[in-house]
Amino acid sequence: MARRAGPEQKAQKADDARRYRERHLDRVREAQRRWREAHPGWWRKYAGTERERRQRAEWHATHREERQARRRERYAANPAKFIEAARRYQVKVVAATVERVDYAAIIVRDRGLCGICGDAVPPEEMSFDHIVPVSRGGDHSMANVQLAHLVCNKRKGNRRPADLEAIVRILGGRSL
Ligand SMILES: [Zn+2]
Repeated sequence: MARRAGPEQKAQKADDARRYRERHLDRVREAQRRWREAHPGWWRKYAGTERERRQRAEWHATHREERQARRRERYAANPAKFIEAARRYQVKVVAATVERVDYAAIIVRDRGLCGICGDAVPPEEMSFDHIVPVSRGGDHSMANVQLAHLVCNKRKGNRRPADLEAIVRILGGRSL
C-alpha cells in the first residue's frame, strides 16, 4: 500500500519543483506563456485574490531595480505619455475626477507663465501643478492643472493656493 505523502515529502516536492524552475527558467516561462494563451481570461479568476495581492507585494519587494529600469524605459519611450499615465494613476488612487489633460494646450492657455510666481517658464523648467492638490481631493482636469516652474511646484508641495497666499502675505512678497 502506498504511503500517504507526509509534510516532509510535500516539502521535498516543493523544493524539487523550485529547483527545477530555477534550472529551467526559460522552459517554465514558455510553458506558462502557452498555458495563458490556451486559457484566455485566466487572469479574471486570479485578479484581486489574496494570492495575487501577496505575489504582487512579493514581486514589488524583490524586483526594485527591475521596476525602476522598466519605468525608465517607459519614460524614455514617451515621456509625455508616462507622466500622464502616472498622474492618472495617482488621481485614480485618491478617487478624484480624471480628465484627459492636454499639456500643450495648458502652456498656450497660461501664455507660458508660471501659475505660482507669474514669471515666464523656460521649457527646461516646465512642470505642471495641480492647483488644488490631488491629495486634497483636487481633480486631474484642465481646469485644475496649471503651468509652473518645477522649483515653484516643488516649493508649493501639498499646500493649497489659499495657504500659499497667506504665506506670501506673511513674507511680504519675499520668495518662499
Ligand atoms: Zn514660478
